[in-house]
Amino acid sequence: MNKKYILYARKSTDVEDKQVLSIEAQLVELRAYARNERLEIVNEFIEKKSAKTPGRPVFAEMLKRIERGEANGIIAWHPDRLARNSIDGGQIVYLLDQTRLANLKFPTFWFENTSQGKFMLSIAFGQSKYYVDNLSENTKRGLRQKVRRGECPGRAPLGYINDVRTKTVIVDKTNAPLVVEAFERYSRGDQRLQDIADFLFTKGVKTKGNIPLKKDQITKLLTNPFYYGHFRYAGEVFEGKHTPIISKKLFDDVQIVIERRKHRRTTKHNDPKPLCGFLRCGSCDMMVTGENQTKRQKNGNVHRYVYYHCTKKRKNSPRCPEPHVREELLDEQLSAMLKEYAMPKAWADKLRELMDTDQANECARSQSQTTELQTIIAQLAAKLQRLLDSYLDQDIDRETYTNKKAEIMSQKKGFEDKLSKLTLGQNLWLEPMEKWIETAVSICKIANGADLLAKKSLCLEIFGSNLILKTKKARLRAPEAQFSPQKNRWVLLRKTIISQTKTDASRPSLQICPNLVRVKRL
Ligand SMILES: [Zn+2]
Repeated sequence: MNKKYILYARKSTDVEDKQVLSIEAQLVELRAYARNERLEIVNEFIEKKSAKTPGRPVFAEMLKRIERGEANGIIAWHPDRLARNSIDGGQIVYLLDQTRLANLKFPTFWFENTSQGKFMLSIAFGQSKYYVDNLSENTKRGLRQKVRRGECPGRAPLGYINDVRTKTVIVDKTNAPLVVEAFERYSRGDQRLQDIADFLFTKGVKTKGNIPLKKDQITKLLTNPFYYGHFRYAGEVFEGKHTPIISKKLFDDVQIVIERRKHRRTTKHNDPKPLCGFLRCGSCDMMVTGENQTKRQKNGNVHRYVYYHCTKKRKNSPRCPEPHVREELLDEQLSAMLKEYAMPKAWADKLRELMDTDQANECARSQSQTTELQTIIAQLAAKLQRLLDSYLDQDIDRETYTNKKAEIMSQKKGFEDKLSKLTLGQNLWLEPMEKWIETAVSICKIANGADLLAKKSLCLEIFGSNLILKTKKARLRAPEAQFSPQKNRWVLLRKTIISQTKTDASRPSLQICPNLVRVKRL
C-alpha cells in the first residue's frame, strides 16, 4: 500500500511549548518537508491543546482515521508534538506494532520503523514526559533555593518592585512611603481598613478596575511580614534579603489593632458625624453617635442641629437615661479639656534645647547595650542552627520545627530591630518627641478653631478611649493616673501647666522643664 500521511501540528500555551514553532510555521515547514520527501498528505490536523495529559480530541480523531485505514503515516515536527504522556506515546507505538502505522516522519528526529527506531521513539516520548515531570520539579527546586537565599518568589508586594535586570526586589520609592504611612495610620487605632484603602486611593494606589483596594487586600498588606524583612513561603517564615521598610515594632502594633478591631462591633453610620466613635455613654458604656435633627418653627424658620446620643437599642431593655447633647456644647467642652494640655511655645523651645544635651549623653550609653544585644542575637542564631540540626536528624517533626523556628525568628528579629535602632542612631526617640512637642504646641490653635475632626484626633491621642458623656458633660472616665504610658506624658504636661499658671505662665521654669524631658522615656 502506498503511504498516505496525516500532517499533525500542535502548539499549546504550556510553558514548555514556548520555544516551539508556531502552528503556521510548523505547517509551512512540514508541507515543504513533505514536498521534498515526496510524501503524500491526505489530511492536516491542527491541535492547540497541551499533550501533557491524555485527552486531545484532534489527536484522538487522527488515531481513529489511522485505525480505519484512511492513512498509515504521520508527519510531525518532533515526537514531542505527538505525545508528552506515556498513554498517547504508547498508542502510537502500539499502532506501529499493529502495522496500522507504517511510518512516522519528523524533520527534526530520525525515525525508522524498526525495533531500534521504535525504541528511540519511545525514548523521545519518554524524554518529553521526563521533561514535563522535571520542569515542575525543577521549578519547585528553583523556588526553594531562592527562598533559602532569602529571596521571596513571585511578585513583590506594594511598596517594592521586582528588578528584572538584577532579579532582586527593590524598594519602590513612590509607593513605599505610602505603605509606611498606611501602617502608621492603622497603628493609631482610629482608622478602619476602609480609611486606609481610601487614603491609598487618594495617593493613586488602586485596583485594576480603578477603585480603592478591597478591605481584605488591606488586611493582607497590613499582615505581610515582608515589610519588616521576613516573608512567608509555603506556610513557613523566612528571613528576606530585601530592605525592610517598617520596624518590627510598628508591625506588631498594627497586629494588635487588627486583633482588637476584629472583635469590635461595627456600627453603620449613613452620615458619620465628626465627633462620633470615641465617646462612650456614661450610663450604659455604649458608643455615642451623632445625627441631624431639624426643627421647624411656626414662622417657617428651619433650624438644623447635630445631636449626639448613646447608641443603646431600646428594644427589650430600659431606655438610656442620658439626654441628647448639641454638637456646639460638646465642642465647647472638649475644647476646654484640650486646652489644659496646650504647651506654651516658650516651653517647647526650652525642651528642644534640653533634648540636644540629652542626645549627646545618650550616645555614650548605647555602646554597652550594643554589645549585649549582639550576644543575644548570636545565641538565638545558634539556637536556630541547633533546631535545624535536630530537625534534620529527625529528632523533631516538621510541625514542631516550623513552629519553633517561627518563634525564635520572631524573637531574633525583635532584638535585631532593637540593635539596628541603636546602631542607626540612639536618637530615634527624638523624632516622636519632636512630633509630640509639635502636637502639644498645636493644641491651643486647634482647640480655638472649628476643625472638629482635628479635635477628635487630639482627644484620641490624649485621652484614648477614656472619655465618657454623662449628664450632658464630656469627661474622663478613669483617673489620669491610670493612663497608658504613652498618655502619661500628657498627664505630666497638664500637671506642669497647672502648677506653672499658679506662678508665672509666660516664663518656662527651669525646675519644671527637666520634669517634662522625662516624658521622652515613656
Ligand atoms: Zn446610654
